Order: sequence, then C-alpha cells, then structure tokens
Amino acid sequence: MGSHDPFKDDALFHENLFARGKSAYVTGKKADVPCILCAIRDGAKEIESRKLYQDAILFVILNAYPFNPGHLMIMPCRHVERWRDLTQDETVKIAEFIKKSQDVLEREFGCTSFNFGVNEGPFSGASIAHLHVQVIPRFKSELGFIDVVGKTRAMIYTLDQVHEKLKEKLA
Ligand SMILES: [Zn+2]
Repeated sequence: MGSHDPFKDDALFHENLFARGKSAYVTGKKADVPCILCAIRDGAKEIESRKLYQDAILFVILNAYPFNPGHLMIMPCRHVERWRDLTQDETVKIAEFIKKSQDVLEREFGCTSFNFGVNEGPFSGASIAHLHVQVIPRFKSELGFIDVVGKTRAMIYTLDQVHEKLKEKLA
C-alpha cells in the first residue's frame, strides 16, 4: 500500500455491524506490514495473534477486540479483497468453516445466535482489505451494568482462554 490507503483515508463512516471499535489492528498492536492478515498467515513473529486453524485454503484467528467471547475471523490464505474474486473452492471451504465454527461456538459457549458477514471495500467500514468473514456469537443477555455505565464490555473469558478452548475444537 502506498501513502494513500483508501481503507483508512476515505471511509466516512467507520461504524458498521461488523466493526468492533477500530479493528484495524486485529492483533492489538500496530505492525508495519503491507497486510496484517497475510503477515499472520505467514506466522510473522513480531505480530501477536491467536490463530485457531490454518490449512492450504483458509485460516482462522480470534478477533483481538472481540464483540463477544469466541468472535473469530475466517479468511482465505490468498490475499483476496473481494468476495467475487474467491475461487469456488475458497468460497465453499469458507462457507463450510462458518458452519463448523457455529457448531463449535454453540457447543463451547452455549450461544444460539450469530452475526456473521463481510465488510468489503473502502466504504464498507472494512479496516483490513484482506477479505475476512467475522463470526460473532450473540447471547440473550449481553448488556450488563458495567457495559452501560462504564461503556466497557465485561468479558467473561480472556482471549487466551478462548483461544485454548477453541483451538483444538476447530482443527
Ligand atoms: Zn493479505
């Protein structure tokens, strides 16, 4: 990316369904790489990430700023920026992995509702160009006292606990 990055400069509205705060940095810290997801795919040591699964077609990480415990991201290994640019194989495998992740999240966290989807293109609110599907478990009672008063979401699990819990189940 050059000095002008449409994913950062031109978007007027950053809030959208699948944006969790400013999720530009899925890893929780800035990294000077052309694509943070490609860097995570390649196992870049300087980037802290919680990978759950990877094969030749796709990989899965925990979102570092989860909306809820188990909020994960599924993406093609190939740097693809548009859903329509996915191969048939990628499309099918990603869609199937969404289903698998729903099964596991339902079993592990008891959630029976989900948001899942894609922000695609600079005006969608996407903060990372590399196409990724967000899978967000939803629960009946999400907002508690601390959420409302402190504007801080109280997490029952730490990211590391969730990572441990899901890592083997998604393999
Ligand atoms: Zn990439």
